[in-house]
Amino acid sequence: MKLSDIGEFGLIERFAPLFKHLIPEGLEGIGDDCAIIPINAEESLVITTDLLVEDVHFLKEHILPRELGWKSLAVSLSDIASMGATPVGSFLSIALPENIPVAWTDEFFNGYHDLSSKESTPLLGGDTTKSPDKIVVNVTVVGKILNKYIKRRSGAKPGDLIAVTGYLGDSAAGLKLILLDMAKEGVSSALARSHHMPVPHIKEGKWLSSLAEVHAMMDVSDGISSDLDHIMKASNCHAEVWLEKLPVSDHLTKVSLENGWDIYSLATGGGEDYVLLLTIDKNMEQEIKNEFFKLFGKELYIIGEVKEGLPCVDWMLNDEKVDLCKGFNHFG
Ligand SMILES: [Mg+2]
Repeated sequence: MKLSDIGEFGLIERFAPLFKHLIPEGLEGIGDDCAIIPINAEESLVITTDLLVEDVHFLKEHILPRELGWKSLAVSLSDIASMGATPVGSFLSIALPENIPVAWTDEFFNGYHDLSSKESTPLLGGDTTKSPDKIVVNVTVVGKILNKYIKRRSGAKPGDLIAVTGYLGDSAAGLKLILLDMAKEGVSSALARSHHMPVPHIKEGKWLSSLAEVHAMMDVSDGISSDLDHIMKASNCHAEVWLEKLPVSDHLTKVSLENGWDIYSLATGGGEDYVLLLTIDKNMEQEIKNEFFKLFGKELYIIGEVKEGLPCVDWMLNDEKVDLCKGFNHFG
């Protein structure tokens, strides 16, 4: 049996149980966007870590070092946002080939600094080392949150509505355009920017976490087809998603029509949008949507409903069930 036979989640399922008995009461480990370590009865630290490997997560010739620096921090900050927490600081470990120009590393750190200052998240430590060939970046972010506000994947309840805080599919379309060398200007370069410089929804996450009517939350990193599956498994509920309600940008619609791409596959399976995916109490839909719009000047998009039943997702298009391919799976 090879790693590709079991995939990323099969691998996690093999080793995670080994460590379960070592986790003391009150601590929460593998299984959510962040681990949770209580500081006292009121507050907890949340911690997440993400790895970016050259030729797996990025192609050096297609991404500017400044963009890569930004993105390396953004993907971890997005996990902090998904718990509803406030970032405290980051740790960066980076392995670099020795022939890399110093100008490249300067620009990488400029990009990392751009987002650090935007989100008031200082770099607190890390490690640097030589790599034989490829660039490897690992970022850990620590956040802080009041215990009563922590949102988990396991909180969804039958009857909840499913919502997202932004467009889906732009990042995946951006990547396609980058790989086709078509991301030079206008709409195409804007989509490429969504892929290279995602903006984590930290303020949105903090506000949503303060609402008791928000039940479950995570960020969209692998595509909602995979990510929503995680919420349903953790919450032991069933989801119905209405494809015609998915928020897709005019940019995505335009390039998909021009190139004959399936918008729904990009919006559900593409991943790396780093918006928040959440479930809310149906009775509070209008209040939450109105307040969200007032605070953030954009819509909270309702895309489906949580139901009782098997922990998986039904994809509906104008009330008819349709088949969709799955989200991104490392080693798969
Ligand atoms: Mg995540």
